[in-house]
Amino acid sequence: MNSIIIGSGFGGIAAALRLRAKKHKVTLIEKQHDLGGRARVFKKNGFIFDGGPTVITAPYLINELFELFNKKPENYIKLKPLNTWYRFIFEDKTKFDYSGNDGQIKKQIEKINNHDVKGYEELIKFTKKIFDKGFAELADVSFDKPYMMVKQLPSLLKLKSYRSVYSLVSSYIKNEKLRRILSMHPLLVGGNPFTTTSIYGLILYLEKKWGVYYSMGGTGNIIKGLEKLMEEEKIEIIKGREVISIATLNNKIQGVKLDNQKEISADNVVCNADPPAVYEKLLNKKKFGSLFTLKKKRMQYSMGLFVYYFGTKKIYNDVEHHTIIFGDKYKEHLEDIFDKKKLNDDISYYLHRPTATDKSMAPKNHDCFYVLVPVPNNQSGIDWSIEGNKIKNLVIDKMEKSLLPNLRENIVEDFYLTPDYFEKELNTKYGSGFSIQPKFSQSAYFRFHNKSEVCDGLYFVGAGTHPGAGVPGVLSSAKVLDKIL
Ligand SMILES: Cc1cc2nc3c(=O)[nH]c(=O)nc-3n(C[C@H](O)[C@H](O)[C@H](O)COP(=O)(O)OP(=O)(O)OC[C@H]3O[C@@H](n4cnc5c(N)ncnc54)[C@H](O)[C@@H]3O)c2cc1C
Repeated sequence: MNSIIIGSGFGGIAAALRLRAKKHKVTLIEKQHDLGGRARVFKKNGFIFDGGPTVITAPYLINELFELFNKKPENYIKLKPLNTWYRFIFEDKTKFDYSGNDGQIKKQIEKINNHDVKGYEELIKFTKKIFDKGFAELADVSFDKPYMMVKQLPSLLKLKSYRSVYSLVSSYIKNEKLRRILSMHPLLVGGNPFTTTSIYGLILYLEKKWGVYYSMGGTGNIIKGLEKLMEEEKIEIIKGREVISIATLNNKIQGVKLDNQKEISADNVVCNADPPAVYEKLLNKKKFGSLFTLKKKRMQYSMGLFVYYFGTKKIYNDVEHHTIIFGDKYKEHLEDIFDKKKLNDDISYYLHRPTATDKSMAPKNHDCFYVLVPVPNNQSGIDWSIEGNKIKNLVIDKMEKSLLPNLRENIVEDFYLTPDYFEKELNTKYGSGFSIQPKFSQSAYFRFHNKSEVCDGLYFVGAGTHPGAGVPGVLSSAKVLDKIL
């Protein structure tokens, strides 16, 4: 079997390796000159900036890829468990250190609202039930037939998946600060906690089960390790070439055409590229366009991301590895981003400081950061060449006041990415950070199918497919493929 993979995100690389382990001849084609997609690395004057994922969970899904070939993961990558998973900070300076230490979590809950300790225990019990169904049982199952969904509906209803994550958490927890902390996980996969199906409450339990890890040398080192493995296993890797069309004959895959007009034939094409872009731009629109036009109308896309990468000549020892800062108007901010598609000055943001764990990410006596601000995707029509700099200054001002005093005068290296980067460089519809939103109406059968319904030999893995965005999600999507191809 000849299989072509379009795109080298975590999902694409995992698919390449899984098919290679099944003895397919595999060719992986990546538009950029480096691998990783959202997990690419930007190196600048001794600073190593991981472009995207920083929180590594469910590490067994990464390890499995090495084990497929009887290789030891520790010879390629080094994952370090973190003690503090996230530090949450509120406008009134309340801090909460979230970790795998339940005793410490309960002590902090007690301080904020004594009555919520019991609710927290009950909530964790309930998220275990969601995890057992939604992740352990269904994350790597193909939802390409409606009966699959119908079969699961009774249990999904029992698990209250019609509710949002925030609403589920609120049914156990009374304090607003604790509600925000315990319901923030959808933001990690591109959803609004106030509208994302409570199935995603499973992430709360998933973190507890396996812990939160950091990849020494950066997440980019996982991509590097996987690239080495692909080379050893004779997967052909073509970098710096974009697939411009997928050829079919009588509803059967024939191969792909590259931007240098080269044609490569294949029995299967696995798209790790964002599914909307594949249906719109790579497949024959006349033949296959109608189904997607229907889907496109009802699909809701995840938020966009403004990511500001910066290095400082000052070391900010008090700043944790992962910090999440909630603005005052949290809910309104999210409504502005997701529904009204407009910017709001009262931002909530995530600050990454890898040098808290790994000094190799910056030159000696320097600190390395990125700050991520959720923003509207490009359905907003925002001109990022004007707004980008404004958001950069807004977030620097906010960080100077709260976490990083005298930041501006200490920055020695910086650049930022906006939804334009995600749209133009990574070919993501509307520049969304995480493909389509994780709503109930866009989950499982209602997401883009791992096995395409329009043509034989066409498959999808990655954030827009089942089970969804996030590194564990896209690695699981490649496991689905393992079962059906
Ligand atoms: C800033 C940020 C922070 C994040 N943080 C976390 C985190 O901490 N933990 C976590 O688990 N997840 C995180 N995520 C989510 C996670 O990174 C993504 O869901 C996941 O990496 C997406 O992988 P993917 O397999 O869908 O492929 P992608 O990473 O989307 O890669 C797709 C690839 O396809 C290529 N491509 C597209 N079209 C073509 C074409 N026509 N020809 C050739 N190549 C093409 C693109 O160039 C790209 O390289 C984060 C995401 C972002 C953006």
